[in-house]
Amino acid sequence: AKAALRERICFYQAEMDEAARSRRSLAAALWEALDREQFHLNFQVQKKVSNGDISGFEVLLRWRHPEWGMVPPMDFIPLAEECGAILPIGEWVLRAACRTAAGWPHPYKIAVNLSAVQLGDDGLADLVGNILTETGLEPHRLELEMTETSIVVDKVRSLRTLRRIKAMGVSIAIDDFGVGYSSLETLRTFPFDKIKLDRSFMNEIEHSPESKAILRAILALGRSLNIPVLAEGVETRFQLDILNVEGCTEAQGYFLGRPGPLAPDVVTAPADA
Ligand code: C2E
Ligand code: CA
Ligand code: CA
Ligand code: CA
Repeated sequence: AKAALRERICFYQAEMDEAARSRRSLAAALWEALDREQFHLNFQVQKKVSNGDISGFEVLLRWRHPEWGMVPPMDFIPLAEECGAILPIGEWVLRAACRTAAGWPHPYKIAVNLSAVQLGDDGLADLVGNILTETGLEPHRLELEMTETSIVVDKVRSLRTLRRIKAMGVSIAIDDFGVGYSSLETLRTFPFDKIKLDRSFMNEIEHSPESKAILRAILALGRSLNIPVLAEGVETRFQLDILNVEGCTEAQGYFLGRPGPLAPDVVTAPADA
């Protein structure tokens, strides 16, 4: 029995070493990915629920590695945060997103995700300001998305940074609202311009009366705070109909449009020539 246990421990250790090695090689590859131009952006449409008008696009980062193929953000973003690579990567995303949107024939909004590490960086507000100047994007067309978890890492610093960014005219959205760390105090303290309701609500809304009741309550909260609510992860007409009945402002999800390299509505200039 003792030998078997030892064998199991050795096996476990070997697996851990393997995991550590692959994390190290993933981290090393991440640091090179920018220089090697392995990143690109996808865009997913956001629409008004009431009339289906496009209101903007969320930018989603994609990493294509020459050997591993597409690496999902959930597999590399936590690691990029841990090893610090998220700062240059995040800067690249912000610049590329603003430059792209500035070239669009329509003044749609562009929503960019920020990580906790970026929020904790004292240079963030200056960086946003510089990128806006450099790309010529009107500040009101930029929206920065962040989760509650990433804000509470350093509340005082986040609040200071967000106030500076808001003063430029940029808007701030709270992402994945309603799951994980979630408190009404954050809504009270931070100057959000939009609430993005986590997509888990959409999964459950058809079957769970509790989820629907919470959705209603969040929409009511948004209305009384005068903050528009965007529902994420809308995959069916049925879900969109519920959102319309309940008075949700905006929606995003596969039913309205999958993330893609180019938004067709955006690349075609209006036919008014
Ligand atoms: P997120 O910010 O909540 O982004 C929405 C995720 O939901 C995206 O996954 C999107 O492809 C997916 N999605 C959109 N509509 C639907 C739908 O109808 N059904 C389902 N099941 N999924 C839908 P993606 O692109 O894999 O990104 C995952 C996460 O990675 C993002 O979650 C965000 O937290 C992070 N991320 C992506 N790009 C960036 C970035 O540039 N910077 C940072 N810091 N994080 C990013
Ligand atoms: Ca997001
Ligand atoms: Ca989200
Ligand atoms: Ca998320």
